[in-house]
Amino acid sequence: MSEDKATLWDCIVIGGGAAGLSAALTLGRGRRTTLLIDAARQSNLVTTGIGGLLGHDRRSPAEYYAAGQRELAAYPAVETRRAEVIDGAGNDDETFTVTCGDGRRERARSLILATGMDYRHPPVPGLADRWGDSVFHCPFCHGWEVADRPMAVLAQGAVGVHGALNLRAWSDRVTLVTNGGELTAQQRERLAAGGVAWDERPIAALDGPGTELRTVVFADGDELAVGALLVKTTLLQRSSLAKDLGASLIEPDEMLSVEAIRVDAMCRTDVPGLYAAGDAATTVPPSVAAAVASGHLAGASAVVSLATA
Ligand SMILES: Cc1cc2nc3c(=O)[nH]c(=O)nc-3n(C[C@H](O)[C@H](O)[C@H](O)COP(=O)(O)OP(=O)(O)OC[C@H]3O[C@@H](n4cnc5c(N)ncnc54)[C@H](O)[C@@H]3O)c2cc1C
Repeated sequence: MSEDKATLWDCIVIGGGAAGLSAALTLGRGRRTTLLIDAARQSNLVTTGIGGLLGHDRRSPAEYYAAGQRELAAYPAVETRRAEVIDGAGNDDETFTVTCGDGRRERARSLILATGMDYRHPPVPGLADRWGDSVFHCPFCHGWEVADRPMAVLAQGAVGVHGALNLRAWSDRVTLVTNGGELTAQQRERLAAGGVAWDERPIAALDGPGTELRTVVFADGDELAVGALLVKTTLLQRSSLAKDLGASLIEPDEMLSVEAIRVDAMCRTDVPGLYAAGDAATTVPPSVAAAVASGHLAGASAVVSLATA
């Protein structure tokens, strides 16, 4: 393993999605030596367009990240590197050391985790092939593109009822499919009053040509014709990095199933000098806009703290 002992970065940003790029831009403009390390596996790369991002609505994610990287290039204090951080630790002198998969080690006075999340969806056959297209987790991101088709929501209990009622903004033919989960009498009443159908039978598969969705196939062989499916997902940390560095996590609850890094309003974790931004620390429905905003805040927090320490 090699370590450049001469370099002590002001900040290392781990992750180069919307949050990490935004943090690095703010650090660069604050004239702080910054290393952005990114494995380039942003969670929305499978989609054709980013829905609902002001100034970039429906722009391809890859183009958007490339534009962010071009903007960073104007700031000499910022260096970017394609690598995966496999280990991180705090040092006795209040600095941090990170180790990359290629063996390189780097040290910094502060660290921003902008590592995104692992979006977990139920293991229904045919779901993964349509993920980010006719199957999605966020109606604000993809509802417009599939509006007015018959739609289903794959979720259970109160979350399912909430998601199905909400989806009526995009379609007046919504069915809640619970994949074997039972609804209460009160939940069924709410759905009926809202004009939403439900089906509690176990699901065998999703079907349709390519990434299109035409039917939800139940285990008993019956089919429900739909053109799009909203799926409840659980967001988990992609690695143990945050925990290894001593940050505490928020346990997922039923409504908002995210295992977020705990941060304060300025994106500070419980560990001095360690910040988190974007999906990795979100407790609101995740979006690119929210990631840009929190990345900016984390970068600004680090700049202020470095200057006033
Ligand atoms: C399928 C899908 C579609 C979506 N569509 C939309 C949409 O249309 N509109 C919208 O607003 N939002 C959408 N979202 C949500 C949105 O994409 C996220 O909220 C946002 O991109 C989060 O940005 P981020 O920077 O926090 O994480 P990410 O974009 O996931 O970026 C994190 C980066 O960190 C890197 N990384 C992780 N760990 C390491 C490590 N150890 N070392 C180095 N690098 C690392 C990853 O490789 C990745 O490049 C969608 C999400 C999904 C899953």
